[in-house]
Amino acid sequence: MDSSILQHRNIQRTKQKLKMTASRLVDHHVNLAVTGLSGSGKTAFITSLVNQLLEANEEANLPFFNVVREARLVGVKRDVQPNLTFRRFAYEDAMISLTNLEPVWPLSTKGISQVRLKVKYKKSSGVSKYLTKDATLTLDITDYPGEWLLDLPLLDMSYEQWIEHCSSELEDPLRAKLAKPFIDAISKLKLEESGDELALKNIADLYAQYLASCQENGFQLLQPGRFILPGELNGAPALHFFPLIFTDNSESKLNLKHVQKGSNIDLLISRFEHYKARVVQPFFQEHFRKFDRQVILVDCLSALNNGYNCYQDLQKAIDWILGSFQYGSSSILNRLFQPKIDKLVFAASKADHITPDQQRNLVKLLESMLRNARKKIQFKGVQTESTAIASIRASKSGSSELDGANIQVLQGQDENGNTITLFPGEVPQCCPPPNFWTSQKFEFPKFSPPKLGASYSLPHIRMDQVLDFLLADKLA
Ligand code: GDP
Repeated sequence: MDSSILQHRNIQRTKQKLKMTASRLVDHHVNLAVTGLSGSGKTAFITSLVNQLLEANEEANLPFFNVVREARLVGVKRDVQPNLTFRRFAYEDAMISLTNLEPVWPLSTKGISQVRLKVKYKKSSGVSKYLTKDATLTLDITDYPGEWLLDLPLLDMSYEQWIEHCSSELEDPLRAKLAKPFIDAISKLKLEESGDELALKNIADLYAQYLASCQENGFQLLQPGRFILPGELNGAPALHFFPLIFTDNSESKLNLKHVQKGSNIDLLISRFEHYKARVVQPFFQEHFRKFDRQVILVDCLSALNNGYNCYQDLQKAIDWILGSFQYGSSSILNRLFQPKIDKLVFAASKADHITPDQQRNLVKLLESMLRNARKKIQFKGVQTESTAIASIRASKSGSSELDGANIQVLQGQDENGNTITLFPGEVPQCCPPPNFWTSQKFEFPKFSPPKLGASYSLPHIRMDQVLDFLLADKLA
């Protein structure tokens, strides 16, 4: 055979090999997790994030997302999700709700769900820029309730210590009032008698109702997390337990060391231990450990609206949640596995409920909320960012005159669809002292979703910056 043909073939093969190696070099994968307590805005956030990527084009409003600004984003499509046991994130349903003639907010997160995107882009630099046409980033986004993170400290608690913790929460008079039906039912339970499944289920239901009423009243530190969002455990005996709280000090009579096998107390203790070992621990070992990047959404504004006690409660819940990101040799997580999150975004959500001049304050307020935990927690090797965002911007800002002064105002539609223009008030940079709340209160508004008209792109505040922080290094 002609040697020049052989040479040509060899060159072609080498080129092919180089291309394959290069494409392996540039095909990346990111496992992004999004969490936050109920109502913090997870569904809206993931819907918007997916929408910004799917709809990104030259006209996209993503000036701080480098890959778009540099016109290197080739295309994004949804792909088959990797975990077949998670629900499919209902992006399409969310978009139907938002593009209705009378748009409504999509249904909130109830359990764990997932969406996979394939992001095709052009490399900006490096050898592979010359060797491959396009590179692909596989982006898996997992949505899970922040309430589930509140369960991590349980792993280090005995049933007795858990009772102590739950009892201390009843120092809040409103919580104590809401807990009354549950506490009354406990006082009638014969603890030492043979286990009565139905009686335990009925009291567990009252305990779940107590937690639900706490949530309705703005409390967020609610445990166990699966009692609020049971996911696949709805109705299962694994959730038929509760803390044995007595308000008349009779718990001193409780002897949890020598428990009669098969008694009601024995069942409660074993179900508590089962919950820790078979529900909490597997979540961290099987799922949490696989996340590379994490977004934590915090609804500071609703907490301000709900008053001092609820704000403090959210503060405590955030302290607990951040415990899940404590990567030190002594942390519970490190004893379970080696976590690998390298970027963490704290985002104060619904920043379209305030005027633009208050958004710096909102970030400061969020940072003041995180300060406590940050003193104790070292986010070793984790890059963190705090910001204020609106995943789906439902208001427009403008200015108006009040008593001769120019003030910033917002315009949007209230929950009944009426157009409202208002000055929502100032955001404090940290939690005001208790006496402040006796004379004043916060009333940040709620808006209906925006009417999108012909556009399919969701309006937002700072989603491009969040995207850039989370993905720029993988799309370089
Ligand atoms: P989840 O429970 O964390 O999934 O919370 P959702 O995403 O369902 O949000 C709860 C509610 O907060 C929504 O129904 C909206 O009323 C509101 N919300 C969430 N994100 C935004 C936002 O970016 N702007 C506005 N105005 N409201 C939002």
